[in-house]
Amino acid sequence: MESKTNTLLARRKIEVLLNQAPVAMSAGVVAALISTVSFWHTSERNIVAGWFILYTLIFPVRYLLITRFNLTPISNRNYSLALNSHLLFSTLAGLLWSALGIYLLSSLQAFDSFIILLMIGGLIAGAAATHSVILTAYFTFSVAVALPLIVFLFTSAEPGLNMFGLILGVFVIFLSFTAYRLNKLVGKSLSLQFDNLELLAELEKEKNQVNSLYKDLEIDLAKCKLAEEQLTREKEKAEQLAQSLLAISTLDGLTGIPNRRHFDSIIAREWNRASRTNTPLSLILCDIDHFKAYNDHYGHQKGDNVLVRIANLLQENARREGDLAARYGGEEFVVVLPATSVDNARMIAEQMRVAIEELSIPHKFSPSENIVTASFGVATLSPRPDQHLGELIAKADKAMYQAKQKGRNHVMVAADNTRKNPEKPE
Ligand code: GH3
Ligand code: MG
Ligand code: MG
Repeated sequence: MESKTNTLLARRKIEVLLNQAPVAMSAGVVAALISTVSFWHTSERNIVAGWFILYTLIFPVRYLLITRFNLTPISNRNYSLALNSHLLFSTLAGLLWSALGIYLLSSLQAFDSFIILLMIGGLIAGAAATHSVILTAYFTFSVAVALPLIVFLFTSAEPGLNMFGLILGVFVIFLSFTAYRLNKLVGKSLSLQFDNLELLAELEKEKNQVNSLYKDLEIDLAKCKLAEEQLTREKEKAEQLAQSLLAISTLDGLTGIPNRRHFDSIIAREWNRASRTNTPLSLILCDIDHFKAYNDHYGHQKGDNVLVRIANLLQENARREGDLAARYGGEEFVVVLPATSVDNARMIAEQMRVAIEELSIPHKFSPSENIVTASFGVATLSPRPDQHLGELIAKADKAMYQAKQKGRNHVMVAADNTRKNPEKPE
C-alpha cells in the first residue's frame, strides 16, 4: 500500500513539474528575447542571433513533448521518459544560458555584465519556484547555468568578475535552500492529498462493508419476521387445538354436557370454596328409571336420544352462574349447586323431575309409568374441616336410592345435618 502511494506521489510530482514547465519555458523565451535585443548593438550580432534561434528552437520540441504527455491516458503515460527528457532539455537550456553569459561577460562593460548576471539570477530564482517540486529538476538547470559561469568568473583575471562569481555562488546557494524548503512544502501538501485519498478509499471500503452488513441484517430481520409470523400462526393453531382438546376432554361425547372428569374437578373446587366461606354446597344425583328396559325394547339408538334430551334439559335447569350439570356415567347425571340451600336444591330437583315428566317420552315397558321418568337424590353440606367430599356424594346417592325405593320418579333429600352445621340463608 505504502509503495503504491509512493509511486503515485512520485508520478504526481512529475505531473506538477510538467504542468508548470510551459510557464517557465515561456519566461525563458521572453528573457532570451530581452537579452538578444538588449545586447544586439554591443555584441556580435551573428552569435547573439544564432544563440536566440537555437534557444527558441528547443521551446516547440519541449512543448510538444509535454502536450503529448498530458494527452496520453494516465495508465499509458511513460513518466520516467517524460522526466528524463525534461531534465535533458532543462540542462541544455541552462548550458545555453551559461554559454551566453560567459560570452557576454567576457566582452561587455561592467554595467552590461551586471544586467546579464541579474537576468541569469532571475532565471535561477524562477527555476527554484517552478522546478522545486522535483529537486533534481531544479539542480540540473541551476547547476548547468551557474557552475560554468562561476568557474569562468572565478578564473577571470578581472577582480570585478571574481566578485560577481562570489555573489552568484552565494545567490545560487541561497536559492538552493529556498528550493529545498519549497520542495518539502509541496511534497508535504501532495502527500496530504494522497493521505486524504487513502482515507477516502478506506472510508468508502468501510461504507461498503457497513452497507453489505446492513443488507445482511435486513435479510436476517426479514427472515426473523417471517419465522415470528409463522410461530405466531403455529401458536394460535396450538392454542385453538389445546382449547378444543380441553373442551373435548371436559365434555361428554354423547350428550355434549360436561363429563365426569370435569365434574370431579369442579366439585373438588366448590367443596374447598364452601369450606372456606362456610356456605352450603348442594348436589343432585339423577338416575333414569328403568332405562335398561327402555334400551332393550326401543333400541340403544333411541336410548341415546333420550340421554341427550334429558342432559340438555338438566343443563337448562341449572341456570345460576356456578351451577353445573354433568353426565355422571351411564344413565346417571349430577348437578352441582354452589351456595344453594337444601330447600332450593330440592326445588330445582323437583323442577327437573317435572320437566322430564313433561317431555312425555313413551316408555311402555316401564313397570312404574308409561313414560320416561327419573329419580333424584339431593344432599346439602356446609363442609366442616373433618368432613370429606365423598360424604356429600354418598348422601346424595343414598337419597337417590330412597327415591328409587319410593317407587321412582321421586325427589328425596338426604337426612338433615343443619343441627351440626346450620345452613346460611341465601
Ligand atoms: P333403575 O330404574 O333401577 O335405574 O333401572 P335401570 O334399568 O335404569 O338401571 P340399570 O343400572 O339396571 O340399567 C342402566 C341401563 O342404562 C343399562 C344400559 O342399557 C343403559 N345405559 C347406560 N349407558 C347408556 C348409554 O350410553 N346409552 C344407552 N342407550 N343406554 C345406556
Ligand atoms: Mg343407574
Ligand atoms: Mg336407572
